[in-house]
Formats: sequence, structure tokens, C-alpha cells
Amino acid sequence: MAKIQMKTPLVEMDGDEMTRIIWQKIKDILLTPYIDLNTEYYDLGLEHRNATEDRVTVESAEATKKYGVAVKCATITPNADRVKEYNLTQMWKSPNGTIRAILDGTVFRAPILVKGITPFIPTWTKPITIARHAYGDVYKNTEMQVPAGAKCELVCTAPDGTETRQLIHQFGESAGIIQGMHNVDKSIAGFARSCFNYALDTHQDVWFATKDTISKQYDHRFKDIFAEVYAAEYKEKFEAAGIEYFYTLIDDAVARVIRSKGGYIWACKNYDGDVMSDMVATAYGSLAMMTSVLVSPDGVYEYEAAHGTVQRHYYKHLKGEKTSTNSVATIFAWSGALRKRGELDVTPELCAFADKLEAATIRTIEDGVMTGDLAALSTLENKQTVDTETFLCAIGERLAAAMA
Ligand code: NAP
Ligand code: MG
Repeated sequence: MAKIQMKTPLVEMDGDEMTRIIWQKIKDILLTPYIDLNTEYYDLGLEHRNATEDRVTVESAEATKKYGVAVKCATITPNADRVKEYNLTQMWKSPNGTIRAILDGTVFRAPILVKGITPFIPTWTKPITIARHAYGDVYKNTEMQVPAGAKCELVCTAPDGTETRQLIHQFGESAGIIQGMHNVDKSIAGFARSCFNYALDTHQDVWFATKDTISKQYDHRFKDIFAEVYAAEYKEKFEAAGIEYFYTLIDDAVARVIRSKGGYIWACKNYDGDVMSDMVATAYGSLAMMTSVLVSPDGVYEYEAAHGTVQRHYYKHLKGEKTSTNSVATIFAWSGALRKRGELDVTPELCAFADKLEAATIRTIEDGVMTGDLAALSTLENKQTVDTETFLCAIGERLAAAMA
């Protein structure tokens, strides 16, 4: 059988620890037997980031801008322990942070649903995709503890020197705390565009919510920018596609989300997205079943798993012990990237392969063959816990049957 050809390279960002081991196995067992993989390879493993003084991370992001699609393995974000462990010359920054800063994107996280693993909210029969605005608010704040009697004001100095002041609080006999934060119209508009583009791409509604009734300037600005961008650039496209943009208050949104069936994109301000993505991920079952894609406002895509490098499993692996590490989210990062590459290049056989790979993965689990993390959740009666490689081979058998 002739292998599937790729017209344009896919940017491949390799990573660390257990996910690096899985990365190679996915390529060997599931991809290269069927595809003549055309990737531009960047080694984002911590050793190579250190050796290149982290230039490789920047280069991989630049390549993603050039080619439009990347697939990324989980990577270590160094802390003091890692500096010692890898003998690093610096505590290099988070690669995801660096890539996000260059691509200026929004991260969309969606769970993969399988029979036998019921979400804690059983009515959630379709995935809820969380889109988190990744700029500003409390993550770039300035805050202080202030003494009793302090008079605290918000001061804005315009470029022409004009000062505007507003009282935050005149403190009385108790000391207290204050906080200043900001966001930027351009970033909010970019966030809105990323959400609307992704909605058109995946044919889902967009829900957005803030607390604009209380925050009449700050949160209201988010609401207005979303409404302006929608009306000017997306309303007609949404109507043609038969999808909807829906705005409500954040507390109403939370209540509706719980009662919903899923199947939409929930656009969240930075803090809401931080909190709600952990809640939604947990409610669907396992972090190892959560996909993540960074979408830039100009339509560049970077696919990855939402989980980290699964360090504890890696140390077991190094000792020669078998691990039962779940590769599903990493497989879906590859299938997502290959499908997008196929769509952009008009290579339908690549898109069809991505569909078959995902179907074979889900069928494997629904046949009862799964890794330990899923076996602990699954209600299937005939389930069988397998190790990392056996799981990939079981998917490989089903994929081979689908490709024959
Ligand atoms: P983690 O790698 O996501 O793992 C946390 C725990 O979750 C694991 O110990 C494991 O539990 C379970 N788990 C996660 N993924 C799993 C999978 N695929 N299969 C089975 N179990 C899975 O998070 P972490 O331990 O906090 O971080 C480890 C490293 O990853 C850190 O250096 C961090 O910087 C990095 N990280 C990278 C990214 C990224 O590149 N996007 C994201 C997060 C973290 P058990 O041990 O109980 O089996
Ligand atoms: Mg969080």
C-alpha cells in the first residue's frame, strides 16, 4: 500500500520524559506505517533547550507561523529541582509561554469522550471546549497591603500629561489590600476572533460570560468588544453555518453549563478559564483525555495534550519497570494536527487517516483495553488494564484493520 504523502511540512516539537517516550512509539506504531511523515523537527527536550539557550523554542514557534500547523509533546518547565537535575545554565522559561507569546493565541481545551467513562455530570454527553483568554487581568496585576488610614487612588496619566484620579478606598481603622490590573483592547479582540474562528472550524456555538453588571467599565469592555467583532466580522458567517454566539452573566453561564448537554465553546476570561478548565477537566474524568490547541487570531494552530510529562511514570520506566501511561491525548494532538494539515493542503486522505486513528483509539478503550488511569474510572465489565506499549499496539491492530 502506498504511504500517504504530505504536501507541506508539519512542525514537530519533541519534548520530555514519559511523553517523549510515547511520542516516538506513536510515530513508530501508528503513523510511519501509513504516512510518509513530512515534519520539520524541533527538539524541545530540556537538554536541547539548554544547549541552544532556548533558541530552539523560539525557532519552533517561528516555523509554526511560517507553516501554520504544529504538534507539540509535553515539556518540562524548569524549577529549582530541574536546574540541578539537568545541570541547566538558567531556569529557562515555560516553552508554552514562549510559544504563546510569539503566536499570540488562545488555548482551547476539550475532553475526549468514551463509553464506559461517565462524566460526573452525566448529562454532559458532548464535550465542553474551554477557551481561556491568556493575557492580563489578575495574572499581570499590581497589588499592595496598605496601612490603616491609607487613601488609595487609581491614577491614569494620559500621553498629554492629563491626570485622571479615582478613589479606590479611604481606609479607616483597619489596614487592608488593594489591586490594580489591566487588559488591552487588541488582545481582547484577538481572543474574540480566535473563539469565533474556532467555532466556525468545529461547527459549535460560542458562549461568553463576564460580570459586566458589577464591573461596568472593565468587564463591560470585554462584552462590547466581543459584540463589535461579532457584528462586524462573524454574524453572517455564523448565520450561514447555523451556529450561535451567546452572551450572558458569568453566574448564569455556570448554572447553564451544569444543566447543558455540552457541545459548545465556553469562552472565559483569564481567571474564569483557569478555574473552570480544571473543574471541567475533572468532571469529564481524566487529564490524560484532555486535548489542547493554541489558535492564533490569524489562524495558526498548535496541537498538544493538556497534561505534562508524567514524571513519576518516567522514573519507573528508567528503572526498567512497565508503566501504564495513557497516550490518548498525545495521539489526538497528532490526529488534530494531521487533519488540519490535510484541510489546509487539501489532502483528503490525510484527514481520513486522522479520523481513522481517532476512531481506532476510542474503539480500543470501548473494547475494554485501557491504561490504568482509565480502568480506575471505567464502568465496563470486561475491562483489561494494559501497559503503555500494549495499549498502542492494540490501537495499531484496529487502525490496520480500518486502513486495509
Ligand atoms: P503531569 O505530567 O500532567 O502528571 C500529573 C499526574 O497525573 C501524573 O503523575 C499521573 O498520575 C497523572 N497523569 C497525567 N498524565 C497522564 C497520562 N498521560 N497517563 C496516565 N496518568 C497521567 O503533571 P506534573 O507531574 O505536575 O508535571 C510533570 C512535568 O510536566 C513538569 O516538569 C511540568 O513542568 C510539565 N508540564 C508540562 C506541560 C506542557 O508541556 N503542556 C503541562 C503541564 C506540566 P499518577 O502519577 O498518579 O499515575
Ligand atoms: Mg488552573
